[in-house]
Amino acid sequence: NTNTDYFIIEDKVVEGIFHPRSEFSHKGTYGRVTIVGGSYGKMGAVVLATKAALKSGSGLTFALAPKCGSEILQISNPEAMFVEGGDQYINSFDFEEDSVYGIGPGLGTHIETEDKILKFLSDYSRPLILDADALNIVAKNKKNLKSIPKKSIITPHPKEFERLFGETENSFKRSELAIKKAKELHIFIVLKDHHTQVITPEGKVYYNITGNAGLAKGGSGDILTGILTSLLAQGYSEENAAILGVWIHGKAADFAAEKFSKESMLPSDVINELGNVFEELN
Ligand code: AMP
Ligand code: MG
Repeated sequence: NTNTDYFIIEDKVVEGIFHPRSEFSHKGTYGRVTIVGGSYGKMGAVVLATKAALKSGSGLTFALAPKCGSEILQISNPEAMFVEGGDQYINSFDFEEDSVYGIGPGLGTHIETEDKILKFLSDYSRPLILDADALNIVAKNKKNLKSIPKKSIITPHPKEFERLFGETENSFKRSELAIKKAKELHIFIVLKDHHTQVITPEGKVYYNITGNAGLAKGGSGDILTGILTSLLAQGYSEENAAILGVWIHGKAADFAAEKFSKESMLPSDVINELGNVFEELN
């Protein structure tokens, strides 16, 4: 495809994007994040996404989840604030304009959750992160795709991608279709895979080369959602947040694999390596 520019996310690209914290700053400087997700039995996903957001630098971090997760979330993430959005699953969702939303981890696809999420998407117009069950909800009806706010970042793994946009023969065709859809919908598609691709609304493709098979475990994607939401809240452009976010996620995974092996490393270990990644960037 001659209209497409392909890039590899090399270290020097990332160093050009990253900017260190200013001495003269306060928590208001680094934005507000709200992670929306969770349902009975899937609260771990919100715990991970929220923790990853906190460890990626956002100024104020909230978790909007059902009541059954309030103690779990406040104990696991004391630095984050809890916002109740239902009992066993999300069925109410009062949003604020000045928070950056990362929606999907552990959300479930209950019909009442679906209603609230779709209503939110049609009422809200700022860029946000959509992942996991938020994407599965959108995928239920192709018409929903148009209500994704422009310049949002969606983070489907191959199966979620196919639910959204239809089946593809191979990863090359998937990539082509993703370019077409990113342009059409004017969104960023983070096509998660062994080598994750960040596809921009202009049709540029950035390949990420950090990360390893130790990430092939439940919970890895939830961490990426937290990182991306946090970077967006801190003022990185959507494009830079996506590029920097996938690179940081993979790099933290590479550090975790060195320490614990690909077999034993857990998504929580990846979160705990974020500090070493930021140290290297600073
Ligand atoms: P999810 O399927 O939503 O949990 O997301 C999985 C995350 O782990 C994505 O960021 C993938 O890019 C990453 N991942 C999964 N398997 C691999 C692999 N074999 N090599 C590198 N990254 C992987
Ligand atoms: Mg996932």
